[in-house]
Amino acid sequence: MKTAEVMADLKKRFPNEPEYHQAVEEVLTSIEEVYNRNPQYEEYNLIERLCIPDRIFAFRVSWLDDHGKVRNNMGYRIQHNNAIGPYKGGIRFHSSVNLSILKFLAFEQTFKNSLTTLAMGGAKGGSDFQPRGKSDKEIMRFCQAFISELWRQIGPDTDVPAGDIGVGAREVGYMFGYYKKMAQEFTGTFTGKGMTFGGSLMRPEATGYGNCYFLECMLKTRGEKIEGKKVAISGAGNVALYTAQKIMALGGKVVSLSDSGGTVIAPEGFSQEQFDYIFELKSYGGRMYEVPEQFPELKYYPGERPWKLVKCDIAMPSATQNELDGSDAEALLAGGCFAVSEGANMPSTPEAVKKFIDAKILYAPGKAANAGGVATSGLEMAQNSQKLSWTAEEVDNKLRGIMENIHAKCVEYGRVSPDFVNYVKGANIAGFMKVANAMMAQGVL
Ligand code: NDP
Repeated sequence: MKTAEVMADLKKRFPNEPEYHQAVEEVLTSIEEVYNRNPQYEEYNLIERLCIPDRIFAFRVSWLDDHGKVRNNMGYRIQHNNAIGPYKGGIRFHSSVNLSILKFLAFEQTFKNSLTTLAMGGAKGGSDFQPRGKSDKEIMRFCQAFISELWRQIGPDTDVPAGDIGVGAREVGYMFGYYKKMAQEFTGTFTGKGMTFGGSLMRPEATGYGNCYFLECMLKTRGEKIEGKKVAISGAGNVALYTAQKIMALGGKVVSLSDSGGTVIAPEGFSQEQFDYIFELKSYGGRMYEVPEQFPELKYYPGERPWKLVKCDIAMPSATQNELDGSDAEALLAGGCFAVSEGANMPSTPEAVKKFIDAKILYAPGKAANAGGVATSGLEMAQNSQKLSWTAEEVDNKLRGIMENIHAKCVEYGRVSPDFVNYVKGANIAGFMKVANAMMAQGVL
């Protein structure tokens, strides 16, 4: 297998899908050597079967807005690979959603889920529906219309969706409710459910907390701790806010938070009071530009991302894909940043990733660092199957153990010299090996 040849073929067959090409190229570059050591993989054309999703559903979602007007959006579900367990991955509602973005996310999810050690295949879905500015009833009608198309393709042992950008507990509740009505059964078909109907304690916190646990493991390899460090975080959604909460609990200073409108900077770290206000503001759909109205000492930068605005020791991009480019990486490195742990999926562009790796800083790709979310979804599935609920402490301990395990795997496959671990390589190879071996054992499907 030659990465360049596979990529040329994929680009020809699936043009205009830049995010999908970007994600595949990163993985293929990492695994090429390991793949070519096993001629059986090539004999069975494993690489093509691994890169091209098992199946894709695309459908129109028609719904009524509050003025009685009929609106139409596109809906998708990408079932990428189920070699090691039922398809599993979130649903994203955002105006930017298209097939390329969902294919990249489903591809990444396959390796991430493999890394967790739990039995979950990879999937992703979503719609170009933009929830911001919609009423609660409009969101409910949209979710119901979306599931009226998708419900036949999902199930507790088939495909288990969850949340992602624009899809939180409210949206999961509406989708789960409609699924339950159509399927006429109560099963753990969604994760991220409310606590009164099968949700797991700690699921909302899991992605952000898990990223902090992974970061702690990385810092330990250099005798460092989160305590006292300045941490720049982007986003102000589920992942960003719980990351910030845990960083502050561990004695770190959160120096930025942002949304798609702009960034708020606190050069010496947000106080608890400021953070609590932002948390509350975001829970009812407030915007970051409103923060200085309450705290005039905090500065808001419209249209800006955090990376060039403030010095930090650690960066945790937690908003969206390709939100940190080569020049941002240069600014971070020049400011003394020595660790980057990704909460979002593929937030750093390939140029930025190269700069981090060349500088030999601690750099954790999202598929390893943010795997705590889906891992806890896996724990929710286990609790649903047993019809039991575990305590927050039990779930948190398991989450911590899983993140330590993922870190150990990245080190095992990614150590390139006594003083440097390439976590991208480590995560990609470790994730790949398990899926590849399961696919080989199951024959050509
Ligand atoms: P949320 O919808 O809760 O929050 C997303 C945040 O990112 C919001 O502050 C949003 O701002 C901002 N954002 C979204 N799109 C853009 C954009 N194009 N440019 C700038 N800012 C943007 O989503 P999550 O926190 O759940 O997800 C964040 C990232 O983490 C995504 O990459 C997701 O795939 C990944 N992830 C999420 C997991 C989870 O458990 N939720 C698990 C693993 C990964 P605004 O409100 O203005 O749109």
